Amino acid sequence: MKNAWLHLVSAVALPAALTALAVSACNEKDIDPPAIDGGLAMRYAQGNFDLGPRAFRTEGAKRSAEWIRTQAEQIPGFADAGGKVRIPAPVRGECNVEIAFPGSSDDFIVVGAHHDTKRLFSVPDFAGANDGASGVGALLAMASAAAEYARKRSLPCGVRFVFFDGEEALYEYTETDGLVGSRAYVDMLRREGDSGRCRAMVLLDMIGDKDLHIDLAGNSTRALAELAMAEAEAAGHADKFSRGEIAILDDHYPFLLANIPAVDLIDFKFGPDNCYWHTGADTMDKISPESIKTAADVAFRIVWRLAATGFKDLPK
Ligand SMILES: [Zn+2]
Repeated sequence: MKNAWLHLVSAVALPAALTALAVSACNEKDIDPPAIDGGLAMRYAQGNFDLGPRAFRTEGAKRSAEWIRTQAEQIPGFADAGGKVRIPAPVRGECNVEIAFPGSSDDFIVVGAHHDTKRLFSVPDFAGANDGASGVGALLAMASAAAEYARKRSLPCGVRFVFFDGEEALYEYTETDGLVGSRAYVDMLRREGDSGRCRAMVLLDMIGDKDLHIDLAGNSTRALAELAMAEAEAAGHADKFSRGEIAILDDHYPFLLANIPAVDLIDFKFGPDNCYWHTGADTMDKISPESIKTAADVAFRIVWRLAATGFKDLPK
C-alpha cells in the first residue's frame, strides 16, 4: 500500500514527494477503521436508557443483557460477518454480554463498556444515560460498523465487544463488590484458554457527555495511553483528550491484573462540579451523538493501529 502510493507521488514534483515521504514514514501503515454512525449510537443509548434501572443482580440488568443480545442479532448481516453473541453463564450473578467478530489473525482485542447502572436509593428510577447507556450505544454502533466492514473484508484482528454487568459497587469497591462482570470475564478468558490471545483491552466509560473531555485513567498501560493520544490527534480530537494522573478502579483493572494491556477512555467530570454523576440529572439530554462518536472512532483507531503494527509496541 505504502509502496504503491510512493510510486504514484514520484511522478509528481519532487518537493511534494519528499513531504509525502516524511508523512508516510511516520504513519508506518495506513489504517482504515470503519466510521461510527453517531446517530445510531445515540438511538441504541436511548433504547438501553428506556429499559429503566439496570442495577447488578436485578431483573433490570437481565433485561438489559437480553436487549443487547437482541440488538446484536438484528444488526444487518451480523451472521454473514461471522458475528456471534452470547451471555456467558454467570459466576457471581453477573449478566455479561459478548459480541465477537473473527479477524485475519487469531489475536483479539476486547472493547468494553458496562451496561449496569448504579443502584441509588435516593433516585430509585436512576437509568444512567451517560453512566451506562452511552457506552452501550457506542459498542452496539461499533459492532454494527464492524459487521458492515467484515462483510467486505476481514477485520485486522478479532474484536470482542463486551458489555460488563456489575461494574458499579453496590456499597463500595472491594475485592468482591464492583467490577464483578469484568473480573468474571477475565476469569472466563483464562478458563477458555483465550487470555494469551487477548492482546489489549480498550474501555469506554461515561463517554457521552455533551461537554466531552476524556482524561485517560492514570493506571492505563502507558503504551496504550500514548497510542490513544496519538490516534485522538490523528482523528482531529486532540483537544478532547488528555492523560490523567489518577488511577481509576474501572473495568480495565482486572485486565491489567491479568497482564493484559488496557486503557480506560473516561470523562469523569460530568456537569458543574460533577453534579450529574450518580444523580437523577444523568439523563439523555446531557449526552450527544457527537461525543459518543468521538470516543468510539478513537477506540476503533486504536484497535486498527495495534493490529497494523502487530502489537509490537505493547509490553509482553
Ligand atoms: Zn457509575
